[in-house]
Amino acid sequence: MNARVEEGERGIEHAPLRGDDAGRSESARAVFLDRDGTLSEDVGYARDVTAYRLFPWAIPALRALRQAGYRVIVITNQSGVARGYFTEELVRQVHHRFENELRRYGAQWDAVYYCPHHPEGVVAAYRRVCSCRKPATGLVERAQREFALDLRQCVFVGDKYSDIQLAHRVGARGVLVLTGHGREEWARSQREGWPPPNHVAENLWEAVRWILHYGSEAERGATL
Ligand SMILES: [Mg+2]
Ligand SMILES: [Zn+2]
Repeated sequence: MNARVEEGERGIEHAPLRGDDAGRSESARAVFLDRDGTLSEDVGYARDVTAYRLFPWAIPALRALRQAGYRVIVITNQSGVARGYFTEELVRQVHHRFENELRRYGAQWDAVYYCPHHPEGVVAAYRRVCSCRKPATGLVERAQREFALDLRQCVFVGDKYSDIQLAHRVGARGVLVLTGHGREEWARSQREGWPPPNHVAENLWEAVRWILHYGSEAERGATL
């Protein structure tokens, strides 16, 4: 298939697919990944692009998912834009930095979608209640349309309970990772008696191992 590049569309960046694995990427299955605290270290609202670092296991994790035929789609709240801490340009620079590092080691994502909004932001252009800030489902629904995904075969991996809530709202499975805010989020969700994630994993690599191990069973309708 052709590379899906839609530049200049606010909040959406598609990485072109390479020829060698484009065929595999026709899958209706995707793993949605949160960014900060899941794919990369949570560095708060850092303004310096070099402060942002992928976790070392991000590269093997993404390679394994793509090899297994999953699309990899990053969905991230970047309210730092609305809060005036940094610009959308910084967000894009961080994504290009990550994409370059992934490609250097033979890994890539299919797309990254971000929400720059916040209802109490200080930058008027971004201050709004939107349908794309997780746990709202707007960005997952957009990815679902653009990649013709079957959300029942998809998994959302994140370090916040809002990622799990989003997974369950769209009928996907949710895996909570204990990196980033994961430990406090897991403790809080247990205290509050919130519906549990489908799985809790030490980090993204362990989450991917679980997805690959149980994915085929889930396709056959097994309860997880
Ligand atoms: Mg996070
Ligand atoms: Zn938004």
